Amino acid sequence: MELPKIQLYNTLSRKKEEFKPINTPHVGLYVCGPTVYGDPHLGHARPAITFDLLFRFLTEVGYKVRYVRNITDVGHLENDADQGEDKIAKKARLEELEPMEVVQYYTNRYHRFMDSLNVLPPSIEPHASGHIIEQIEMVKTILENGFGYERNGSVYFDVEKYNKKHLYGKLSGRVLEDLMANTRDLDGQSDKKNSFDFALWKKALPEHIMRWPSPWSDGFPGWHMECSAMSIKYLGEQFDIHGGGMDLMFPHHECEIAQSTAAMGHESVHYWMHNNMLTINGQKMGKSLGNFITLEELFTGNHPMLEKAYSPMTIRFFTLQAHYRSTLDFSNEALQAAEKGLQRMQKAYDSIRKIKPSESSSLKVDELHSQCLEAMRDDINSPIVISILFDWVRNINLLIDGKEHLTAADLQKLQHSYDLWMVRVLGLTGQMEEGTSTERLTGLVEMLLNLRMEAKKNKDFAQSDKIRDELTKLGIVVKDRKDGFDWELE
Ligand code: ZN
Repeated sequence: MELPKIQLYNTLSRKKEEFKPINTPHVGLYVCGPTVYGDPHLGHARPAITFDLLFRFLTEVGYKVRYVRNITDVGHLENDADQGEDKIAKKARLEELEPMEVVQYYTNRYHRFMDSLNVLPPSIEPHASGHIIEQIEMVKTILENGFGYERNGSVYFDVEKYNKKHLYGKLSGRVLEDLMANTRDLDGQSDKKNSFDFALWKKALPEHIMRWPSPWSDGFPGWHMECSAMSIKYLGEQFDIHGGGMDLMFPHHECEIAQSTAAMGHESVHYWMHNNMLTINGQKMGKSLGNFITLEELFTGNHPMLEKAYSPMTIRFFTLQAHYRSTLDFSNEALQAAEKGLQRMQKAYDSIRKIKPSESSSLKVDELHSQCLEAMRDDINSPIVISILFDWVRNINLLIDGKEHLTAADLQKLQHSYDLWMVRVLGLTGQMEEGTSTERLTGLVEMLLNLRMEAKKNKDFAQSDKIRDELTKLGIVVKDRKDGFDWELE
């Protein structure tokens, strides 16, 4: 298969560049995964869906992608700072659990919700706590190269010294002089030389339970360390793409670049990709604003801001309707519009196989494929792909009405294009699944109502009332008729 030319926006160069992997057709992709101390929320959905789209697209056009997405289970302190409690240890203390129980519980929940969003699992999912040795080794190298210093059992990165040789701030565009000017004086509590230095290793306080031995102290790695160490371990000293949310650009990714460069003398990442942030009714999502929505609340509708439940497929479709570098604003109106749009597309998709072939074709079906490919080659432009698929929803409806016609071969191409672009690349499933669940529900309700009729015949009225009451509780209204029953959903 000939690999198509792809343009990707590189945050580092601030422009679109032709994607040239180090070792075609192999692609190394690393994406920062969740810190597993709380229930998965809307903020987790966007990066997962964005890089799932990239992973799916590259794979479908013939690349062999090794996709590494980590689990942060140690070292991420409150407020992303160098002081304070570990987010996971704090949760464990509050819930009286082992930290690894917290990690396992929320990792399982994260996986379950990612499955429902049809986000494919990565090729490797390393845990920070499983790579302490690799992180210690890297800290040692940074110290040997003179870019770190030890104070009271903790090790810090010397940003000022690094900046004399390499440029610190190249990804986020922050300049060290500005950081220095805006910096507050250290309060004397910290061992750091400068407030913008960051921890590579932290000595654990006596009450800190997540700790490992190291040459410097019993302690734990700094948050940024894990991604440098694990990406290099699984993808090599240089690899193709590093992704994540824009909120991670500074300090997390900036520090990753500095660490890797300080350890190896060169950068490791060729293309940095960042998805933009999401808002809710125009506001940033935050616990203090009362607009913090978990995925479970979204899928059940159980949140004061939600008018109804939204299916995982609606959330996926809605997310893909915006380009990943644009902001995405969630509102009930926008989600309901997305829900209707998705249903229209699913219905058209499911009806392709009902179209009768003709002797000739009145539509150029090849264009569907070439235009979708064109859009995805241009920095994975999913909203354009969706609009092209919608143009063809109109055509499908005209084909069903007999106002347009296609040959059997062209109909097959139409089916293949939707299978590829809608189902496999965008990851949107057809309505079939929902249809199947509706059929199952119907079958189950009718079976129960037939059992109820039998009970009535046997004068077991307690049983027949029980079945009716339980169904009512589930929102299924039963109406008795002379010759049987009717039922409907409330
Ligand atoms: Zn990371």
